[in-house]
Amino acid sequence: MTDTKLRDAIYGTAIGDALGVPYEFMERDTFVCTGMAGHGTHNQPKGTWSDDTSMALATAKSLKDNHGAVDLADIRHNFELWLYKEEFNCNGRTFDVGNTTANAIIDRKGCTDVMSNGNGSLMRIIPLAFTECTDDEIREVSAITHGHRISTEACVIYVHLARRMLAEPWDRKEDRKAYFERLLNEEKYEAPFERLSRLPELSRDEIRSTGYVVDTLEAAVWCLVTTESFEECLLKAVNLGKDTDTVGAVAGGLAGIFYDFSEFPKEYIRTLRNKTLIGSCLF
Ligand SMILES: [Mg+2]
Repeated sequence: MTDTKLRDAIYGTAIGDALGVPYEFMERDTFVCTGMAGHGTHNQPKGTWSDDTSMALATAKSLKDNHGAVDLADIRHNFELWLYKEEFNCNGRTFDVGNTTANAIIDRKGCTDVMSNGNGSLMRIIPLAFTECTDDEIREVSAITHGHRISTEACVIYVHLARRMLAEPWDRKEDRKAYFERLLNEEKYEAPFERLSRLPELSRDEIRSTGYVVDTLEAAVWCLVTTESFEECLLKAVNLGKDTDTVGAVAGGLAGIFYDFSEFPKEYIRTLRNKTLIGSCLF
């Protein structure tokens, strides 16, 4: 039986990704995303999701095939099927592949230098929140492509946040702000993640939405904790500009867990492409 919250997290990821695809690389406040749109940066039809969702699905499918166990060789194999054989993608064509990800898959070795700290492992790590894997296993799954400490720790932090929201969902009686403050103060964040615990106080101007993994993690969590609906969170993420699809996807994974599926805009679910593939990778 599929874990319905895994479905929600993956749908959140795919919807955030698809909302952001038309605007990727665009500067903040040079566009306004108000819903699903087609074309733009990658000239894709409305509802098209990209590498972020594909690699999360490739990871989820491996976990499904291995009954929830992490098999690094199998996950890497699925990434190869995605990069070389056009599997796990929305419309039969792989697009929007990050440099570090491509190099690591081609070389069969994750990148470990400090310059290889893009958000390419963070964007695909959410399925691990639905397993009992250890922190070291989270780091190893990140390191298939992104092995530097900053990337591996970003993935651990993200999975921990997701697991905590799953274990202790917001009961809607508690003040939303108090819930998030608790969520962000249960762990002591070391540099360069020290801003996480005070994110709710930061202004939009203080949030960067580049492809750097720390910026993406901060931006995604900031969007969750400063909004009041699934839709508002995802649109706020995309409208930060720059790495719109990945910030949208990473925010969407968390928003998918925090909110109930019934609160996702029906139009977004309807427009999302290739839901059959998404469903086949859930466990
Ligand atoms: Mg992408």
